[in-house]
Amino acid sequence: MSSLVLLLLLTALASLVSGGGACSKNHHFDFVLLAIQWPQTFCSTTACVPHADRWQIHGAWPENDDATWPSNCCTNHPFDASLLESIEPELVASWKTLKKSGTNEKFWAHEYNKHGSCAHDAPLLNDVFKYFNNTLAAFREVHLEKWLTAAGIVPSTGRQYSARHFDHAIQVGLGHDAQLSCVNRKGGVSTISQVNICLDKITLKPIDCPLADRNCKTNIAYRPTH
Ligand code: 5GP
Repeated sequence: MSSLVLLLLLTALASLVSGGGACSKNHHFDFVLLAIQWPQTFCSTTACVPHADRWQIHGAWPENDDATWPSNCCTNHPFDASLLESIEPELVASWKTLKKSGTNEKFWAHEYNKHGSCAHDAPLLNDVFKYFNNTLAAFREVHLEKWLTAAGIVPSTGRQYSARHFDHAIQVGLGHDAQLSCVNRKGGVSTISQVNICLDKITLKPIDCPLADRNCKTNIAYRPTH
């Protein structure tokens, strides 16, 4: 046997032993960020389908404590919408695209390919069905409308709320520190676009987020759809 053939055989054997597929490399991340979007903020700059004032899932994102994150990783489980048929009604209710020019399937494929493909090390997220089904399960435990309303924070065209008030209301409801994300118009107000809940990557139970705020100013607008 030539040494080249021997080398190829050894390489193939090593690949089999290390997990077999083309995607044996894991991408490190520290926790999972459950990104929950406020429709009106996204829809103030994008043409949207009709939507209600209801917090809804943007995605579940492998994330690091220093705010870096892996994306578009290699996965042995390619996106396949037919695997989601049994949970489609709940996906449509809680994780639909807002974009007029989009489709749910495109949005879900985008989230899975960009973020879900990197979740090898999250045992509850590391295939297509698990990624969507267990993200829905985690979202079911998050009651942002209720927690914010209990603190007097309701969508308003005129009022603003302090970021500390927002943070505190969610902390009381969730029992952990979340992370706020805003859209800041030049010289204008800071508008809440997303609440990010941090989840333990093994159990998908909430943990304290390492960073409280991404980019919100001291006061935050929380706008209703109309
Ligand atoms: P990201 O890349 O931040 O995970 O997701 C944003 C991408 O998904 C953008 O390309 C955006 O146009 C698309 N997208 C489709 N539907 C939605 C939606 O309902 N909300 C948001 N934020 N992005 C959406």
